[in-house]
Amino acid sequence: MNDPTPLPPEAVEALLTDTSPYLSCDDCFATIDVYVERLAADPGHRDVAMETHLAGCGACAEEARTLLDLLAGS
Ligand SMILES: [Zn+2]
Repeated sequence: MNDPTPLPPEAVEALLTDTSPYLSCDDCFATIDVYVERLAADPGHRDVAMETHLAGCGACAEEARTLLDLLAGS
């Protein structure tokens, strides 16, 4: 449905050097759509593991922003 944006080199590096204490980027991408949908439905929705990963991973944070924009625009 949405074309993934090509990743800039620093984002690729962030993916390769995953410093997340909770989720890997694979785990993050597997559940980020569900997380964003819940967040859109309930702004108070909390997912500590996801929030921690997004705080430390610019690539996934960008993905979350893109998904939120899509939801907000539909
Ligand atoms: Zn990530």
